Amino acid sequence: MFCNPIAMNNTPFLPYGRQIIDDVDIQAVVDVLRSDWLTTGPAVERFEADVCAYTGASHGVAVANGTAALHAAMFALGIGKGDEVIVTPLTFAASANCILYQGGTPVFADVDADTLLLDPAAVEAAITPCTRAIIAVDYAGQPCHWDSLRAIAEKHRLALVADSCHALGAAYKGRNVGTLADITVFSFHPVKHITTGEGGMAMTNDAALATRMRAFRGHGITTTASQREKSGAWFYEMTELGYNYRITDFQCALGSSQLKKLDGWITKRNQLAQAYDAAFAKSAVCPLARRDDMRHAYHLYVVRTPERDAVFKHLRGLGIGANVHYMPVHMHPYYQNLGYEKGICPVAEAAHENILTLPLWPGMDVEDMARVASAAVTE
Ligand SMILES: *Cc1c(COP(=O)(O)O)cnc(C)c1O
Repeated sequence: MFCNPIAMNNTPFLPYGRQIIDDVDIQAVVDVLRSDWLTTGPAVERFEADVCAYTGASHGVAVANGTAALHAAMFALGIGKGDEVIVTPLTFAASANCILYQGGTPVFADVDADTLLLDPAAVEAAITPCTRAIIAVDYAGQPCHWDSLRAIAEKHRLALVADSCHALGAAYKGRNVGTLADITVFSFHPVKHITTGEGGMAMTNDAALATRMRAFRGHGITTTASQREKSGAWFYEMTELGYNYRITDFQCALGSSQLKKLDGWITKRNQLAQAYDAAFAKSAVCPLARRDDMRHAYHLYVVRTPERDAVFKHLRGLGIGANVHYMPVHMHPYYQNLGYEKGICPVAEAAHENILTLPLWPGMDVEDMARVASAAVTE
């Protein structure tokens, strides 16, 4: 059943996450391959409309990957040289790299020790006259403290961006992730909740931001090829410096097909997570704190454990794909060379020493979970 041939004791390798593709998904892709439009066609618009309908956001701009969606967000907000953007360090590097792409300056604010979500008090302390925006990450699939972040953003007139690549399908106080920030970004990489192979989408309720991101996706040109075909006009203008960040129609057909299964998968992820929680109740393995005013999307199941490196090696030796998410972004050599110092985010840096991601994806069953849990509790 599992994909990786590295196996011990005839037990297949259990990855920390992976896609599930069925015959309906495959047929949806094949149908597009037989159609007229392979890119910038109707399946792209349909997928955007489907994710809007699912989240309740007004506009969705589908792009080549989640990183491109983050870049489009920074562009649309006008981030440039001299602008500071506050971001969490406990994330994939793309959350901060997108600021650098636009010539802006990432400012890392520390996380809350219990949830490892961006700490609103640390955000407020990091604000300077140059601050323009906040990028918060719904780490592991748990929504951030969005009400507090919104209040800070309004008070200081900052844009609020949700890197919700871990949290498609999550909700906060009854409101869906996708509607909680000025721009929300999703990724459809195979380890994420639904996949298009590579893919991403930026959601917003602001029509002007949507228009800017749409142009950015296609070289900064104001119309698409299919719009020109419909109107019969050849004329187009490039008004801004954009990129080719387009996604294909066959990828989007896969996305729309996958989206229909998302709610069932989120339920399964929550069931497995609760079973893990119960298995660790009387052990030294400590699941991350979760708040009760939200629906968790459980992209990752993260625990803290003493002897993390030994537990990691033990699990890998048993064919269990444990992982560490993440090394704080400012500790990567590239950021160290830019002058970011160790010690600026002590909570995230301490967490990095003892966090461990255990396998969690909807194709796992309770026996897989139990095998991982008993292996993780070593003493
Ligand atoms: C996956 C991910 C991204 C980037 O998405 P890609 O589609 O791989 O470009 C950005 N931020 C976070 C938090 C992610 O998990």
